[in-house]
Amino acid sequence: MKIAIIGAGIGGLSAAWDLAGAGHEVNVYEGSDKVGGLAGGFRPEGWEWSVEKYYHHWFQSDAELLKIAEEIGVRDKVFYPQPVTALYHQGKFYAFDSPIAVLKFPGIHFIDRLRFGFVGAYLRFSKNWKSFEKHTAHEWLRKWMGKRAYETLWEPMLKGKFGEEYYRDVNMAWFWARIHVRTPQLGTFEGGFQAFCDEFAEAVRGRGATILLETPVERIESKDKDQLALRTNDGEETFDRVLSTTSPELVAKMAPDLPEDYLSGVRNLKSLGAVVLTLSMDRPLGPEIYWYNLPKSEGFPFLCLVEHTQFVDKEHFGGNHIVYCGDYLPPDHRYFSMTKEEILEEYLPGLQKINPEVSKDWVKESWMFRAQYAQPVPFVNHSENIPSIRTPIPGLYWASMSQVYPWDRGTNFAVEIGRRAAKSIQASKPS
Ligand SMILES: Cc1cc2nc3c(=O)[nH]c(=O)nc-3n(C[C@H](O)[C@H](O)[C@H](O)COP(=O)(O)OP(=O)(O)OC[C@H]3O[C@@H](n4cnc5c(N)ncnc54)[C@H](O)[C@@H]3O)c2cc1C
Repeated sequence: MKIAIIGAGIGGLSAAWDLAGAGHEVNVYEGSDKVGGLAGGFRPEGWEWSVEKYYHHWFQSDAELLKIAEEIGVRDKVFYPQPVTALYHQGKFYAFDSPIAVLKFPGIHFIDRLRFGFVGAYLRFSKNWKSFEKHTAHEWLRKWMGKRAYETLWEPMLKGKFGEEYYRDVNMAWFWARIHVRTPQLGTFEGGFQAFCDEFAEAVRGRGATILLETPVERIESKDKDQLALRTNDGEETFDRVLSTTSPELVAKMAPDLPEDYLSGVRNLKSLGAVVLTLSMDRPLGPEIYWYNLPKSEGFPFLCLVEHTQFVDKEHFGGNHIVYCGDYLPPDHRYFSMTKEEILEEYLPGLQKINPEVSKDWVKESWMFRAQYAQPVPFVNHSENIPSIRTPIPGLYWASMSQVYPWDRGTNFAVEIGRRAAKSIQASKPS
């Protein structure tokens, strides 16, 4: 079959790997000038490794990702440093990345810590996620973990991630999925995630697929004999199958001929955007902490603070210290239109809560990355509302972060859904 894939993120590359490997003729269309999508990075002159546009790491449980890394021959470049993850509580930071660390956390009563631990263990071992999706995480955790533990430990995370608008509505299966599969060991790739994506793209090309960069697809149209035409600024080309790995908004825009009931399902999917300011500094920001969980109620202007060079050696970045300040926000939030200098001005007091000495003079360079589609929001009984990968237009498939549920979005699940879409396309091959 002649197959087009829209998007050279991890999902698109995974589908291309399998489809090209099965002998199909595959063209991957990518709008930007690089492969990798949300998992990609950037590398200024003088740096040996790239830094991710949006802070990224892998878990040891990311089996799909590790499997494809093995297949493309780069598994030995995935490594797991031992960074510290901490929780901010009343002006202090506490390690929060192991059962022992939780038991030692002084912010809640010992009985609440035990309850927190038991509920965590229950979620880790239960498999029946469907029973969880009937409840909101807010209600379920409050009831079973207890008000004090929930309000101190998980409510700030839910609020930060989904905002006042949605945090009470996110379903418990989403929360279960995070506890169920994630390991405390965090990993990355030699050279950075962009190096992984570039090696992945080379392997895909090695199987005969063509990757067309800076070629955004504008329109997908049905033609005679179950063929689909793709329109780009280079003209029109016809395919037997098309897989889009773009956001719900973009797939609806590119394929307006999708029937209304499918389109309304696509349009009803909710998501948040991401805003990440990355700083290169001449000295470390704080103590040996990689990941800070920050409650916005304590006056932090961002949700995540990540000191990347407490995870990966600063020598790979010309000796600079790399700090990400990130947040998930509605796409109409003012941070989507402010300059990085204006945002740094607002973020500085937050950085000074970590280290009162920090000043703008420490910052040698900064970068701003914003994505309108970054975090799907799953409501109660979400499994009933997910549009299928195989769309009602014959030959047209759609696989995105919004469909990896009950798992939270992540590169591991981008691999899984990309391969699932490839399987479904192969199964549709005319005999
Ligand atoms: C802030 C943040 C932090 C994250 N942290 C982690 C983490 O620590 N670990 C982890 O595993 N995952 C993490 N993720 C999630 C991970 O990045 C995604 O789940 C994954 O990259 C999604 O891959 P994808 O291929 O489905 O989509 P995308 O990466 O979005 O790829 C879609 C591609 O389609 C292209 N495209 C869009 N429109 C068109 C068009 N019209 N024509 C052609 N091409 C088009 C885009 O340019 C893009 O390259 C994070 C995401 C964010 C936003």
